[in-house]
Amino acid sequence: MFDEVKGFQITFGRLFRPSVTINYPEEKRHMAPRFRGLPSLRTDPETGEALCVACGLCARICPTSCLEMHIVPSEEGDRELGEFILRSGRCMFCGLCSQVCPVDAITMSHEYELSVMDRDGLIYTKTELGTIGGQLPNWWEDGTGEFTGTADAWAGTRDGKALLGPGVLGKGVSR
Ligand code: SF4
Ligand code: SF4
Repeated sequence: MFDEVKGFQITFGRLFRPSVTINYPEEKRHMAPRFRGLPSLRTDPETGEALCVACGLCARICPTSCLEMHIVPSEEGDRELGEFILRSGRCMFCGLCSQVCPVDAITMSHEYELSVMDRDGLIYTKTELGTIGGQLPNWWEDGTGEFTGTADAWAGTRDGKALLGPGVLGKGVSR
């Protein structure tokens, strides 16, 4: 009997406090600016072409061998990137590919909803990666997110309003 009363004490104690859960996927939490989501390709804002110069360094450093690039001869007689493939099923989101890239052509996006119904959906092409990462900044310098709020505001928003008030996430939660 005493245990039941203790249980109800906790239930009633929490009843009128703000909820710490959100209704995902309708509501989403803010990702930290340097969150490492799907690797993606940055593109030239004027031409829309990937910045990648097909040097192959990212593929060589990738611990899971999930990057692949196809190099083709360019019109100038040099070489250029034909296709760029990411097998995301193998990716462990370490960010090494981005850090090693000499021209900052690959960056970690905030994409994390990556589940698919068939395995082919785990393969991303140059065009798809460019659509995701096109104008993102380099994640490991400044972070790819625009979010600059306080730690509590990471809890997310509903209809443009913060879900939780200041201090709800507790002390010691910081960026
Ligand atoms: S994030 Fe890591 S595992 Fe994923 S493609 Fe880049 S180097 Fe490979
Ligand atoms: S390291 Fe950068 S430039 Fe080199 S192949 Fe990878 S994305 Fe392209």
